[in-house]
Amino acid sequence: MRRSLFPSLLVLASPSLASAAGAPISPAAPWARAVDDELTRPVIERLTGKSAAEIAAIGSHWEGDMLFTPDGLGADALAAMGKEPLHAMAYDPAPGVLFVEMGGVTLTPTCGNGDNANAALNCSPLVDSQTDFPSYGDGMAQASMFQELQNYYEPFNIIMSSQRPPDYLPYTMAVIGGASNQGQGVCGVANVACDGLKRNHVSLTFPQSCNGVAEVAAQETSHNWGLEHTDDTQDLMYPFNNGGFKTYVDTCNTISHATGSGVTQCGYIHELYCPDGGGEEQNSYQELMGVFGPREVDDVAPVIVSTTPEDGAVISTSDSVLITAQIEENSTLVGVKWTWVDGLPDDVEEYTRCTNNVCVEDYALTPGTDPNEVAWDFVNLAQPPVGTYTFQLEVIDGYGNYDSKEITIEVTEDGNTGSNPDTGSDSASGTDGDSGTDGTDPDGDGTAADAGDATGATVPGVDDGGTKQGCACAAAEPTTPRLAWLIPLALLGLRTRRR
Ligand SMILES: [Zn+2]
Repeated sequence: MRRSLFPSLLVLASPSLASAAGAPISPAAPWARAVDDELTRPVIERLTGKSAAEIAAIGSHWEGDMLFTPDGLGADALAAMGKEPLHAMAYDPAPGVLFVEMGGVTLTPTCGNGDNANAALNCSPLVDSQTDFPSYGDGMAQASMFQELQNYYEPFNIIMSSQRPPDYLPYTMAVIGGASNQGQGVCGVANVACDGLKRNHVSLTFPQSCNGVAEVAAQETSHNWGLEHTDDTQDLMYPFNNGGFKTYVDTCNTISHATGSGVTQCGYIHELYCPDGGGEEQNSYQELMGVFGPREVDDVAPVIVSTTPEDGAVISTSDSVLITAQIEENSTLVGVKWTWVDGLPDDVEEYTRCTNNVCVEDYALTPGTDPNEVAWDFVNLAQPPVGTYTFQLEVIDGYGNYDSKEITIEVTEDGNTGSNPDTGSDSASGTDGDSGTDGTDPDGDGTAADAGDATGATVPGVDDGGTKQGCACAAAEPTTPRLAWLIPLALLGLRTRRR
């Protein structure tokens, strides 16, 4: 089903929108300023116009095995915020990654970064205190469970992995292990996010408490993506573990409250798929299809199309420049991470900006955002001191295709350069490199000599005598087609299909 029934309100920063310079990243370095753009603010705050404190004050509540927190944007939370149903959440289907954790994990109830759950940080309000979950079964049991779960999700564009993806790629985590932490008769629990708006939730499945582990895991992960219970005994969203063969049923079924007591929370989304149901019917199959779209295979790597400045650019101490990039990616699921590698202000240990809220600054994207339309702004250098500065950009899509690039720029004393940071012209920078040797560069011989070499561009990896910039050689695009985390999938995939 096309989801563009409503004009999307989730318009994000476009490349044409220049980012404002925000606060200095440290008091001692007013020349290094964070980017101040929309994407540094959490999605839920942008969607609702409410502050983090107002949102947190709403609190959460359980409905059977489902935990509704405010960022799940259920009916009660929206009502508490005085908000109408957010049909703006309807977005074009976007692929998702499901990491199945069967090797044991420790979860904490808080994330420390403003998120109420984040799979990459092993935090979830599904636990009340730090909780250890043991591993599940042996290798055979794990492979067979994984395959069974994969069969359930076969129609949908859900990329499953038994290996943990990089933390800056949003992924949902299904923890399989241990006994119920929510009392007897509970086979699994999950946070709910209506319309699959949040893509880094966690669910728990308790193999020591119930049989039908894959079936339970399917239901719990689907709760993460906005599905509630139905009264169809054939549907994976039937709230009881009745042992029969189930699937995601492609009919509109009545929402079941057999295990909860309350109000259907994501009814305004269910209604998009069951228009006659008034929000009290759910088509589990079509709704997942609407969230993820049909299964696709993607082996096209993302491409870092350009950076500003270019690698090897030379600017002066009177210039200001925004470190940014444009990427090209054919899917709408992407993890992007900037790292300030070299030339950090003295009192700053680390400066990063990435997706999935695991870096110093975030790119808070909504599912379905076109990564080609995002301005991947990192940091503003406003009249920086003389020196060498290196930044790394990494991009990975949900299928494990990867690209990275390092850019190194030189800052020279004002008056020593006429080069424009946008062009980073080689000839200009070459001469600057020479002139730099005579001078004021506090780093001495190293940087100035390197500048000449590095900006020569065709001589990668010229020895810089050591530690300084891990050489510009990486810029010569050794595009790794796939990262290792997807490979074990192929092995698991060799298992026989069931039935
Ligand atoms: Zn359930």
